[in-house]
Amino acid sequence: MRIYLSVDMEGVSGVTRWADVVTRGQDYQAARRWMTGDVNAAVAGARAAGATEVVVEENHGTEMLCNLLLDEIDADVDVVRGQPRGGATTMWALDGSFDAVFLVGHHASAGDYPGICAHTISHTHYKDVRLGGRSVSEGEMFALAAAQYGVPTALITGDDVVCGILQKCCPGIETAVVKQAVSREAARVVPPARAQVIIRDAAARAVERVRAGAVDAPEPDPPFAFEVELREPVTDEVRAAVARRFPEFWVSADGRVFAFSADEMGLAFRMAAIVQFLAEQPERVRAY
Ligand SMILES: [Zn+2]
Repeated sequence: MRIYLSVDMEGVSGVTRWADVVTRGQDYQAARRWMTGDVNAAVAGARAAGATEVVVEENHGTEMLCNLLLDEIDADVDVVRGQPRGGATTMWALDGSFDAVFLVGHHASAGDYPGICAHTISHTHYKDVRLGGRSVSEGEMFALAAAQYGVPTALITGDDVVCGILQKCCPGIETAVVKQAVSREAARVVPPARAQVIIRDAAARAVERVRAGAVDAPEPDPPFAFEVELREPVTDEVRAAVARRFPEFWVSADGRVFAFSADEMGLAFRMAAIVQFLAEQPERVRAY
């Protein structure tokens, strides 16, 4: 059994504040260790239940998606890290040959409150990201992308909010709740040493459930209609330039909402992520 494990940092055991997940934060180096420990726990649980191969993909945007401690990670996994990745920066190495996806250290969406470090793709730029008119989390997008390859998402680890979200869209998914969110930066935290026992056990159960055919992937229903709502509107000039140069995006008259649709969730995630660069670097939009 082959497992594709996507790891983010906001939902890792111990992580509580934005300052924990950025390079200069007081606990950033500790958070890298917690993140690596959470991955190792999931790998150990999966292996104990019979998984034969785990590919780990780093999906936390700090330091060009290189946050795991490679000296401490299980030596038998492969790690996808760094950017750019020549296409999607999420689920880059996933294909239909995997038996299950694990989401470790993931977080709630921009539309959620509470939720530790809740955001969708860009904390700085995005007020909300909606799919079919409702707030969508990164985890749901990952699960839908995996579902398009026929791969179920079998494990979510993070706060109680993200675990609840994934339970709704992936019936049968195993959860490891490592903290109860009180707000966006306060939680009742299970310390990493104990949390990693919870993760290990949940990962083992997840593999058993996959083997029993007891995990359902969400039903993808393309085309996927997305809206990215920005915190700050783009100018009319940028809006006109986007219309001219990037007709894949429709921009609302007030410059706050970018809408697009795509048949493939991997592409949709990339398009949703690119909006931040169109908003952040208008000179490049004008230059194209
Ligand atoms: Zn992250």
